[in-house]
Amino acid sequence: SGRFTPEAARQDMPILQRPVNGRPLIWLDNGATTQKPRQVIETLASFYATANSNIHRGAHTLAREATDLYEGGRAAVAEFLGAPSPDTVVVTRGTTEAVNLVAQTWGRADLGPGDEILVSTLEHHSNIVPWQMIAKERRARVVPIPLLPDGSIDQNAYADLLSCRTQLVAISHASNVLGTVPPVREMTALAHRYGAKVLVDGAQAVAHFPVDVQELDADFYAFSGHKLYGPTGIGALYAKPEILAAMPPWQGGGNMIDSVGFDRVTYAPVPHCFEAGTGHISGVVGLKSAIDWLTSFDHGAVAAYETALLGYAQQALATVPGLEILGSAPEKIAVLTFTLAGHDPMDVAHWLDQAGIAVRAGHHCAQPALRHYGLDAAARASLALYNTTEEVDELVASLHQLQAQSG
Ligand code: PMP
Repeated sequence: SGRFTPEAARQDMPILQRPVNGRPLIWLDNGATTQKPRQVIETLASFYATANSNIHRGAHTLAREATDLYEGGRAAVAEFLGAPSPDTVVVTRGTTEAVNLVAQTWGRADLGPGDEILVSTLEHHSNIVPWQMIAKERRARVVPIPLLPDGSIDQNAYADLLSCRTQLVAISHASNVLGTVPPVREMTALAHRYGAKVLVDGAQAVAHFPVDVQELDADFYAFSGHKLYGPTGIGALYAKPEILAAMPPWQGGGNMIDSVGFDRVTYAPVPHCFEAGTGHISGVVGLKSAIDWLTSFDHGAVAAYETALLGYAQQALATVPGLEILGSAPEKIAVLTFTLAGHDPMDVAHWLDQAGIAVRAGHHCAQPALRHYGLDAAARASLALYNTTEEVDELVASLHQLQAQSG
């Protein structure tokens, strides 16, 4: 892989050329979705212009080409995650669908009355609600793992909560609101001592640091393409081969069967039995292009750059009167969620938008994490590899101005 510089990454991002409210766009809403490199945009256009076909059926050239591209995308995801083989990767709409798939198949088959699912308090709603839904159906219980004041997961409480009733532990590899990167490998090893499975939500992790699902020993790992410089509506679920093989299928339809009769149906092999209907074929092709783009840089160098940018931003934001950052865990990605005394978070976001700076404001789909700080909303600047110290300076200057004009 090549040398990484933020300038090289910026040059590939056409959207960074557009002005917003008369100012150069400063995109600090990467936690919601990242921008797309020209290579991904061109791959999508080229797929539709030259290779469009449905897959896995039709003995013609384009069907074969589209199938090869789709399966090539699956293989690229497997390699990117350090998965043992492409068959351990199920193509989904994103993280949300991946978690729901596990809850509705593995969960429905394996959870029973009195079983417990431990869910950390910093989870995104998509790693909470699917568990609440299946727990209700199976009369199991969702048990929150508390946080410490710095936004890290309370490891003593976690150890105490684990028991022979624990069937699953659901944890993020990086929090979208506090930035916390929990010790997933250690937490997984501990869960396995109790025979529990571990689902890791990698939505905020994969773009920011290298991931190896086998090294983590994760049972399930989910992520979304659109937070990884790829298209929306595409993502993946990794699961250990023996777990996938034992999981019942989820949605029924075309592509997921082997043979259908009114007396009997048999299913396609793993992972195809979890991919009913015509999927987002161009999305898979675009996802591979995004992975190729990101991994054309040295991923370790990207992670180091983002960590340095986080440190710079933390120091610079600390100069703004009345600004408080939520989450100061020692291991964290470059997510800066903050409150500004005297200002509603939505007003802060609108003020910054006037300066061309995009940040998110609200509950960030992680209400329990915000309530841990007694809040129901906050503003969030979430950084990516193409952000620069100059952009952070603009953010900080704009917040100083807001405080000066209202002070
Ligand atoms: N988990 C985390 C940690 C997230 O940040 C997000 C997206 N904000 C999701 C899950 C859900 O991802 P998606 O909406 O792409 O399914």
